[in-house]
Amino acid sequence: APEYYLPLRMLGSQFHAGMDGKSAAVDIFELLALQGPVMTSGAAPLARQQQIGLEFREVYADYQQGARPALAGVSFTLEAGQHLAVVGPSGAGKSTLASLLLNFLAPTAGEILVNGLVLRTLCASDWLQQVAFVPQRPHLFQGSVADNIRLARPDASLAEVVAATKAAGAHDFIMRLPSGYDTPVGEGGRGISGGERQRMAIARAFLQNAPLVILDEAAKGLDVKSQVALDTALSRLLAGRTAIIIAHRITTVRQADKIMVLNAGQIAEAGTHAELLAKNGIYSRLVAASQAREVAHD
Ligand code: ATP
Repeated sequence: APEYYLPLRMLGSQFHAGMDGKSAAVDIFELLALQGPVMTSGAAPLARQQQIGLEFREVYADYQQGARPALAGVSFTLEAGQHLAVVGPSGAGKSTLASLLLNFLAPTAGEILVNGLVLRTLCASDWLQQVAFVPQRPHLFQGSVADNIRLARPDASLAEVVAATKAAGAHDFIMRLPSGYDTPVGEGGRGISGGERQRMAIARAFLQNAPLVILDEAAKGLDVKSQVALDTALSRLLAGRTAIIIAHRITTVRQADKIMVLNAGQIAEAGTHAELLAKNGIYSRLVAASQAREVAHD
């Protein structure tokens, strides 16, 4: 069994495990390239893209031979600067879609095109430098706060780190830490709350300044104030960039340019919020269920 297919939701917390502050200064993309034989890397260099448009053409993905494919014939296009919210029940294939774009997994059939270029032919490190991944539970490693943010670009100056954390709404809480940017963060980031941790991951993404953002939205667990700070930072990050959002909150979904409902590896419905509500199908049932949950929690 291919254990090296690490579930996406675990990557945020696992792929830096065991790193100390010093070794963290290595290129994160080299690290990702060490993930194992699932990495497919073509030879074609990819110059820095100002904007990224995506196309999935009949994409299939499998973790295990013989099992139901995690994705089966998924096709869509996303124009440069558009935001796609991906929703659907557990196991629908949402994380798999993101894993394909992050080169953790290669399609078993079909093609993914990036600005018209076939993804599997592109040099993986060139590509991954242009994709910022904001996981649900970003991992912090042992090292200073500044080093934790520099992970996205080890050569960044302190001024660049500060600019990124300000944009991410993380500067103020960092300044309140005992030694500010030099404060040591313990392995796993003890003492830093979930919301603060996510804003640090957003700061990493600002520093990386990638034209494509993949966001695995946190489902719950933040107080209202942290949620507002996070929303502000995220909308700033996503402005002008192409984004794929594994969405858990109805407000996020409603704001997206396109919504895709995945079910059992296939696109059940796709369109805008209004279009999908009018269909009165699986999406409107998901919305009704999430509203019922919100009311229940009030
Ligand atoms: P969730 O909302 O629970 O995160 P999801 O929509 O992201 O679910 P995926 O994680 O993409 O769904 O899973 C799609 C299918 O692939 C499921 O049948 C799942 O069991 C399977 N799968 C996902 N990750 C792995 C893995 N690492 N190894 C084997 N099968 C996997």
